[in-house]
Amino acid sequence: MIKAQRGTKDIIGLDTLTWQKIQQNAQDIFQNANYKEIRTPIFEATELFKRGVGDSTDIVNKEMYTFSVGGKDKSESSITLRPENTAGVVRAYIEHNISRQSPPQKFWYFGPMFRYERPQAGRQRQFHQIGIELFGVEDPTADAEAILMAEEFLKSTGVDNLEVELNTLGCPKCREAYRNSIKEALKPYLDKLCDDCKVRYEKNPLRMLDCKDENCQKIFELDEIKKVILSDYVCQDCAQHFEEVQKLLDALNIKYTRNKMLVRGLDYYNRTVFEIKSNLLGSQSAVCGGGRYDGLVEMLGGTPTPAVGWAMGVERLFELVQKVDEKKLDYFIVSKYPKEAMKLCKKLRRKGLSCDFDMQNRKFAKQLEKAAKIANYAIILGEDEIEKGFYTVKNLSNGTQEQRSEI
Ligand code: ATP
Ligand code: MG
Repeated sequence: MIKAQRGTKDIIGLDTLTWQKIQQNAQDIFQNANYKEIRTPIFEATELFKRGVGDSTDIVNKEMYTFSVGGKDKSESSITLRPENTAGVVRAYIEHNISRQSPPQKFWYFGPMFRYERPQAGRQRQFHQIGIELFGVEDPTADAEAILMAEEFLKSTGVDNLEVELNTLGCPKCREAYRNSIKEALKPYLDKLCDDCKVRYEKNPLRMLDCKDENCQKIFELDEIKKVILSDYVCQDCAQHFEEVQKLLDALNIKYTRNKMLVRGLDYYNRTVFEIKSNLLGSQSAVCGGGRYDGLVEMLGGTPTPAVGWAMGVERLFELVQKVDEKKLDYFIVSKYPKEAMKLCKKLRRKGLSCDFDMQNRKFAKQLEKAAKIANYAIILGEDEIEKGFYTVKNLSNGTQEQRSEI
């Protein structure tokens, strides 16, 4: 017996209906707001993620499904199953010269992502994300629009009671001073930090704040450290940008809290970062995460382009939404004459009516039993009906029956 791989799940039965609804909501909400769908390949050059996600991240260091294909004379380039989609969308944005179109260029996507993580509730190895990327606008309106879209999409799925957490990481310039003071403050504790944080300390000190290790978090809680973390370090421009974002969110009636510990897991963020959390989800509480990434397009070889986006975990969202129930068919055709039943089915389906028929020549009573389970009406097509050209239609909720010449 070969089973599904650890950390992967089959989506079957009734669950698929809820998945379809989530995807339909996304399509409706984003298209309505002038976002274009983008579907990029699920594997890309490994190099893209190393550069685009950042080689001080857990994603790149521990979680990538990386392999190479082909023998010596064939392509030996290393490829990776996408762990997230921003890098791929940015690659496509550059490759197709999308920057030539007038900004903003707005995209949305839905698809599977792959991370080699320890499977647990809310954490899989193949999972799905819905996300948006908005290119070409430095103005705070883009940040606010991105957060607004996340809110509106979540609302359309019926999910509320979520917490938006907001922070600013400043620009590379103002962050430099902050990084240095955090390094300075943590220097005496370097020995006590986890091994990952020791590496982060050198490569990307801010990412230490995102560490899940309890011991590290305790150190960050120490008064002297906390004081440095919570200091206002952003430069005037960045502070003003962040101020504007908050004013726009206020005007849009979007509630949020400031979380100065929020740094996000990816290397490329600057200025606004945010997460949306639910307290109904247990320890994996983040449904959505995103932020501004003004340096990424240039870093991947494009012309400098400001950008902002977010990604949402569909499995976590699935836990929060009201599940969709199966709808009954309009008709089930009860007949011992499959050829006639199929012809009628074809006609009704073309009219947009849902219907099905019996394929196994089951007894009349059995067919009717099945009809009652899955359809609103049974159309009885017996010898008499076929000969004289009428239909007997049985209402399966109240048992009444009538003869009709047309359906
Ligand atoms: P976490 O802190 O939970 O590991 P992350 O920072 O790695 O999250 P992002 O890369 O920001 O997550 O991805 C955005 C969203 O995608 C998350 O908020 C979460 O809902 C979802 N997500 C991320 N990794 C997984 C996973 N392994 N399984 C299921 N959903 C995931
Ligand atoms: Mg993660």
